[in-house]
Amino acid sequence: MLCYASAFSILVSCHNGKKNYNPFLLCSHSLLHLRNITPSKMNGFSGEEFSFTFLDEGFTAKDIVDQKINEVSSSDDKDAFYVADLGDVLKKHLRWYKALPRVSPFYAVKCNDSIAVVKILAALGAGFDCASKTEIQLVQSVGVPPERIIYANPCKQVSQIKHAANNGVQMMTFDSEVELMKVARAHPKAKLVLRIATDDSKAVCRLSVKFGATLKTSRLLLERAKELDLDIIGVSFHVGSGCTDPETFVQAISDARCVFDMGAELGFSMYLLDIGGGFPGSEDVKLKFEEITNVINPALDKYFPSDSGVKIIAEPGRYYVASAFTLAVNIIAKKVVIKEQTGSDDEEEQNDKTLMYYVNDGVYGSFNCILYDHAHVKPVLQKRPKPDERYYSCSIWGPTCDGLDRIVELCAMPELQVGDWMLFENMGAYTVAAASTFNGFQRPTIYYVMSRPAWQLMEQIKEQGFQAEVEEQEVTLPLSCAWESGIEHYPAACASASINV
Ligand SMILES: *Cc1c(COP(=O)(O)O)cnc(C)c1O
Repeated sequence: MLCYASAFSILVSCHNGKKNYNPFLLCSHSLLHLRNITPSKMNGFSGEEFSFTFLDEGFTAKDIVDQKINEVSSSDDKDAFYVADLGDVLKKHLRWYKALPRVSPFYAVKCNDSIAVVKILAALGAGFDCASKTEIQLVQSVGVPPERIIYANPCKQVSQIKHAANNGVQMMTFDSEVELMKVARAHPKAKLVLRIATDDSKAVCRLSVKFGATLKTSRLLLERAKELDLDIIGVSFHVGSGCTDPETFVQAISDARCVFDMGAELGFSMYLLDIGGGFPGSEDVKLKFEEITNVINPALDKYFPSDSGVKIIAEPGRYYVASAFTLAVNIIAKKVVIKEQTGSDDEEEQNDKTLMYYVNDGVYGSFNCILYDHAHVKPVLQKRPKPDERYYSCSIWGPTCDGLDRIVELCAMPELQVGDWMLFENMGAYTVAAASTFNGFQRPTIYYVMSRPAWQLMEQIKEQGFQAEVEEQEVTLPLSCAWESGIEHYPAACASASINV
């Protein structure tokens, strides 16, 4: 079994959580049995190690959530925690190449800088979008070569530009004349990528107010770069995070073509198109990943046909990590608010209370995504509700003393008690990365898991790279198992637009 131990510090634990409601899973407790395998170094890999648990056959990340909850059921020690399915990240990588075969992903580290995520993507051969010295250091600490890094922050501190220069990182974005002058002094050999603005008016998080040159400015910048003897290798853009209109990509790709043509006129031979991020990371979105890529591909073929010799990259963040992370929070306090009412019917009386739950992670922690990322989260009940269970209007609050610290304004759930758990799915993007410890509340621990087939497939990809064969397997291999187990979730009937006023 040591053959599995080539990459990470592997803590393999036996999954023997009690299954109480899913007979499908009761079959398998057999396969496991390795513990604390000594790590050995993976090719081109070094740095801090991390542990993950192999999922036993037929088990899912959700089972590990249940197992962790069972483990602490009789104790008071019920801190919030994450379970992150690294197989899901791998699955996303395969799906990426299937949907965008011409585009190499450079993962945007800011979205989730967990060492495990960075290492998995490094092992899979992805590139990285870093925005700071610290992100560059993180990515280089796991052995990623500088050619696989783009310093994709158009406005950089001079000392950090020098850090990039001293560490071989050459690709970097810019969108202003002042930045060109800084780079000319601090990193004259840089391979510059001109970031253009996009029409991001329909994106959830707009970026082009802050970054991106207009076409007119682009011409001036190209001229200035020529005077400064700087090398401009291509064009980048970002349509805004949470893109809701794929036509934005088409317009931006066509604008990029214009800038390539301007560059050619001025004597630049540009060869890199960077289509940025903005791709959805979960299925609970209006516009699915493939709906976007189905629009992008023909635009790429039209404006940058394969024989143009232009290399195309992207900077997906959310896409890779959102769905891999599930957060479990515990109810630490509860208030029952009785509404004044005149009715005499018992049932009505019962229904006329609203419940306030206080849980042990909030907007200063993982749920900062509500403030910064305009996220709308909804809880999933950990315990299956009884068929006739009554639902109440509830609000959910974080643990800090700030009134702003509210997670859900209104949703309908069965009555829960202090000590009960709520789960939040799709919590991998812009959550842990920006969480603070305000008021003394610590960030949740992250437990990483991966199925054995996912692990084997990863090993195979590391050795052989992507091949048609590997892509074929994607269809049949239970990478993260989450969809094959038949596990049902019991979602709280959460505030739809009609009640959430
Ligand atoms: C934030 C960011 C990304 C990632 O955006 P997603 O919407 O998470 O894909 C990519 N590139 C740049 C320059 C960014 O600032």
